[in-house]
Amino acid sequence: MRTKLYIDGQWRDAANGKQADVVDPATEEVVHQFASASPEDVDLAVKAARRAFDQDGWSRTTGKQRAQYLRRIAKIIGERQQELAALETLDNGKPLPEAMWDVGDSAGCFEYYAKLAEELDNDEHAIAVSDDRFACRIRREPLGVVGAITPWNYPLLMASWKVAPALAAGCTVVLKPAELTSLTALELAAIAEQAELPAGVLNVLTGSGSVAGDALVKHKQVDKVAFTGSGPIGSQIMREAATDMKRVTLELGGKSPMVVFEDADIEATVEWMMFGIFWNQGQVCSATSRVLIHESVYDKVLERLVDEAGKIKIGNGKDEGTLLGPLVSKKQLDQVSAAVERARSEGATVVCGGRRAPGFDKGYYYEPTVLADLKLDSDAWVEEIFGPVLCVRSFKTEAEAIEVANESRFGLAAAVMTQDQARAERVSNALRAGIVWVNCSQPGFTEAPWGGYKQSGIGRELGPWGLDNYLETKQVTSYVTPAPWGWYIK
Ligand code: NAP
Ligand code: MG
Repeated sequence: MRTKLYIDGQWRDAANGKQADVVDPATEEVVHQFASASPEDVDLAVKAARRAFDQDGWSRTTGKQRAQYLRRIAKIIGERQQELAALETLDNGKPLPEAMWDVGDSAGCFEYYAKLAEELDNDEHAIAVSDDRFACRIRREPLGVVGAITPWNYPLLMASWKVAPALAAGCTVVLKPAELTSLTALELAAIAEQAELPAGVLNVLTGSGSVAGDALVKHKQVDKVAFTGSGPIGSQIMREAATDMKRVTLELGGKSPMVVFEDADIEATVEWMMFGIFWNQGQVCSATSRVLIHESVYDKVLERLVDEAGKIKIGNGKDEGTLLGPLVSKKQLDQVSAAVERARSEGATVVCGGRRAPGFDKGYYYEPTVLADLKLDSDAWVEEIFGPVLCVRSFKTEAEAIEVANESRFGLAAAVMTQDQARAERVSNALRAGIVWVNCSQPGFTEAPWGGYKQSGIGRELGPWGLDNYLETKQVTSYVTPAPWGWYIK
């Protein structure tokens, strides 16, 4: 496990010598320490990224050249999948098979953007303009130095979603991972080094958000901030970015609904619902955290859900068969517990769970929990809990379901469960969310846009939209008719 910051192709301690702890959430033990970057380190990293962009020529490489680096990175991630997944499980607590999945997707993301980098070489094109004495061509250029700030729920994957398209576009990057989960970001730096990515193109600064993250967002030589995390910090970043007109993309939280109609396949619905809320211990921005169930099947769905939720094997993420690991931190456990207690005190019914998982002396384990009888304006129904806590409610009509589903300041994802094609289409079109799943929940694809409506964020990651985030569009207009033009000189 690595301990140092990666700045300008070199491994260095923090300028002030500060370090932070890695805590295994399954055992609560401090298992490692790493450097915690100071504003001075941020300045060094941003200047290195600036130089790599402006002078060393990364921004002028061809897409084909950049694709070679991206493919090398993808290959090394793939070769080290097992080891990187084990680090992710140690840091975040998630079950190892989920971590294996994340690492595989991270490699896939670099591979995908390698292809898009190559396509950029043929991207320049002419457009017709209304005056045929002029010819206009459109090119897209890398936008500059990117500050990427990532959360702890999918550490390597969220870093890949930003670093891969940014590098593909020809940008240079300073990555600040979440302090809780820094290990795989440092490995990504090591992988970039092994892939011989030029110095300064990718810099990785571990450290705290309030110090390193804040300095990165405020740095005058950063052109863009790409952020995934909480709404309040996203909002703060947007305000800071406004000072010098930095570009921002924000991937924030959600309270994503699933609407279950009376004709839904109940077994499949329960399966997807559990995947939607218990996967990664519910610490997922797009988690299916509010479920609306038609009154005629409400009791049946709930009964099956509680039955299955009770069978989920809770344990250390590295143990075979574990389906639910610990929450990421003591703070997260306390927040989830407090949210459930508040709901209970406000009269909600705790249908199952609602406490720390019994049988563990150590570790931040929380039981799969289902809450019912919540008021529409209660915190539990409205706010993101970011834990294995599902809120359920019944509805009578399609119109009511759509109205309640859309009654949220968030709009990241939503799901519709029905066997009626026409209804599936009607309801998915009516739901105000960036991602709508029909008869499923949570599948994500590198090719498809990811992002939210309303307070769930600004912009889209992944697919060609993810690449656009890191490009500026330029028109080059030439006068093509033999001179003179004839405005002044006739
Ligand atoms: P957060 O505070 O927003 O953290 C996200 C990232 O931003 C981390 O790298 C964090 O650094 C950094 N950061 C914090 N303060 C910053 C600042 N002033 N300037 C620049 N960067 C800053 O989120 P969190 O505390 O990890 O989680 C809190 C809640 O956010 C969760 O309960 C959940 O509701 C939501 N969340 C959403 C997602 C998502 O995928 N949309 C992911 C994670 C969390 P450090 O953490 O290292 O200090
Ligand atoms: Mg940790």
